[in-house]
Amino acid sequence: MDAKIVVLAGDGIGPEVTGEARKVLEAAARRFGHTFTFDGQMMGGRAIDELGTSLPEATVDACRQADAILLGAVGGPKWDNPNAPDRPERGLLALRKELSLFANIRPVKLHPQLIAASTLKEEVLQGVDLVVIRELTGGVYFGPRQEAGEAAFEAYDTMLYTRPEIERVVRLAADTAMARSKKLASVDKANVLASSRLWRRVATEVLADYPGLQVEHVLVDAMAMHLIRRPASFDVIVAENLFGDILTDEASMLAGSMGMLPSASLGELRNSRGLPLGLYEPIHGSAPDIAGKSIANPFGTILSAAMLLRHSLGLEQEAAAVEAAVDSVLNEGVRTPDIAHTGQEVVGTQVMGDLVVQALAY
Ligand code: NAD
Repeated sequence: MDAKIVVLAGDGIGPEVTGEARKVLEAAARRFGHTFTFDGQMMGGRAIDELGTSLPEATVDACRQADAILLGAVGGPKWDNPNAPDRPERGLLALRKELSLFANIRPVKLHPQLIAASTLKEEVLQGVDLVVIRELTGGVYFGPRQEAGEAAFEAYDTMLYTRPEIERVVRLAADTAMARSKKLASVDKANVLASSRLWRRVATEVLADYPGLQVEHVLVDAMAMHLIRRPASFDVIVAENLFGDILTDEASMLAGSMGMLPSASLGELRNSRGLPLGLYEPIHGSAPDIAGKSIANPFGTILSAAMLLRHSLGLEQEAAAVEAAVDSVLNEGVRTPDIAHTGQEVVGTQVMGDLVVQALAY
């Protein structure tokens, strides 16, 4: 099969981790007889520096024409000035909106080899295998806001949701849950927020169409606690944008490190194969504290590449092979520093990528 993949390496560790994921995609193409064409495009801080905008038109055009998009991360202290006319994160939010990527799917799976890397106890972690579906193009990140410069006395953001926005993401979550263990937790803050009361009303209506589904509505503050108290009791969790963002960073510790978690952002657009035109990225940011040191964990991005193969290219066998290659490298006991404990062999980003490529070749 021929497929066109746009790579948005971004800032900080973005180029390091996408470089390894690309190597793994190339290895998968070699093993299974496909031709993947990679098209590197600019977005984020480097795009501001070199092209004067965080989201160049050429990038949006290339993404629209691609079969799938692989992203590292954007941002960093260099571009943190709150008064700057453009910011790296604006480019990413605008791209999600442009491509109507309304659902961010974040699987949180414990690799048993990494139990020791987590800050949580083994008995809490046993059996963790859940998926968080985060609404991605609505809520407080996109609602009306006011921020009137440094002398401002007040500022506000607005958490705005419409019925259709809630309905489509809850339906996607319910379909996902029906294909797994038929359990869905819908997260909101309906005891305080009006947008959350709408969320719960619409979710309740939508979920009435799924009589076989076991549903619980959980307040976000309680969910933050349950996630580290009884994580294995959850299967699919659906949450609005901000709540999903925060809960998945917390959930990353169930998998041992931010560097382990992949994600897929899907929407209504279809690619040349009639499959979702998705954007695939690790859940972590640009990690400026470790950028350039070649110690970033590339697994989150490599596992995002596996999701890309599965969801946007329909290559299930290839996706499973990449996931198996990651597992086999973990079985060898090799670790990047974020998931290592005493006595284990610690390697850098590129060596880890090479090991996955080798494991994939067999
Ligand atoms: P971060 O996720 O970049 O880093 C948090 C911590 O996790 C850091 O200590 C970092 O070293 C560590 N970490 C992250 N990824 C790692 C990996 N692959 N391997 C090993 N350790 C890893 O979050 P932050 O420091 O709050 O944000 C840094 C910048 O990233 C900010 O500018 C933020 O806006 C941006 N950001 C971008 C995205 C995105 O592009 N999707 C997402 C989140 C944050």
